[in-house]
Amino acid sequence: MSVLTAEEFLTETERKRVSAAISEAERRTSGEIRVHIEDHIEDEVLDHAAFVFEELGMHRTKDRNGVLIYVSVADRKAAVIGDKGINERVPTNFWNDVLGVLQLHFAASRQADGLCEAVFLVGEKLKAFHPHQHDDRDELSNEVSMGRK
Ligand code: CA
Ligand code: CA
Repeated sequence: MSVLTAEEFLTETERKRVSAAISEAERRTSGEIRVHIEDHIEDEVLDHAAFVFEELGMHRTKDRNGVLIYVSVADRKAAVIGDKGINERVPTNFWNDVLGVLQLHFAASRQADGLCEAVFLVGEKLKAFHPHQHDDRDELSNEVSMGRK
């Protein structure tokens, strides 16, 4: 079985779809959602996702309410991690259902559908703790980022 690269995993058109889903989700919450896709990693997925979180400057939001949806394509691994403004208030398995939805879609090769749905679910969860503010700023890019960090 061939191994997909990040670009094959999510085409440019699909990346735009996911990016639009992020913009839509961020209309309901002040939280900031990002999606990052990588080919392959050596280290443990949660550790690496935490590293990417920092590399993307996601810890620099005003309310510490960024959430990263991270995928390592060849390893078939994904992680959903939130900044401390969220993680301090939610149980440790808070993101597990989002991860479950992602993995179901990925197993059926519906990457874009899975990511869009995951973004939607994260937005719904964020909304409860960090509702949208009238003076909200888009603090982190809504573009899907790709490649080795
Ligand atoms: Ca915002
Ligand atoms: Ca944003």
